[in-house]
Amino acid sequence: MNKEELFENYKELLKNILGEEPKIHFENGKLKIFKDANRNFVLFGSEFLSDLEEFAAPLLRISGKEYIDEIFKFYQDKIKDKEKTIKIIIATSSVMTGWGVAEEISRTENSAKMRVYDSFEANAYIKRNKKTDKPVCSFIGGVLQGLYENYFGKKVKVKETQCAATGAPYCEFEIKVKE
Ligand SMILES: [Zn+2]
Repeated sequence: MNKEELFENYKELLKNILGEEPKIHFENGKLKIFKDANRNFVLFGSEFLSDLEEFAAPLLRISGKEYIDEIFKFYQDKIKDKEKTIKIIIATSSVMTGWGVAEEISRTENSAKMRVYDSFEANAYIKRNKKTDKPVCSFIGGVLQGLYENYFGKKVKVKETQCAATGAPYCEFEIKVKE
């Protein structure tokens, strides 16, 4: 599926499953997770990511994971269905956050493969014409770690096997349950 088709499918899916607005959304330039959340999220221009480089990677990874830990629990409590929860999070993340458009390519009982178009982290390099030969998408890696650790109920290892920042057409991640 191409990224435009994915985007439209996700919007439809969210309408059908939730029957209401998704809980992650941008409002007046601020990212909000829950309507009643009384929390601060500090955002900055994603272009700066390419200046921070590896220095910021661990922090970005943890931030991504913690976002999704919270969101997963929220939807899981509400919907009580892991399969729908994972679909909702992929869809909301793809259409509401500006992080990128994700497509789950495959999943087994202990692994998954995820493709991400338009990663905001890779775009930070591409837009500034900054060269790198290593994958750069730490935040999204953390998001996927949180997503699949909640889904599998086990620790997972996430590896970005190709990244748009290095010239690939999209980013791709392998997720494996740690034995
Ligand atoms: Zn990437």
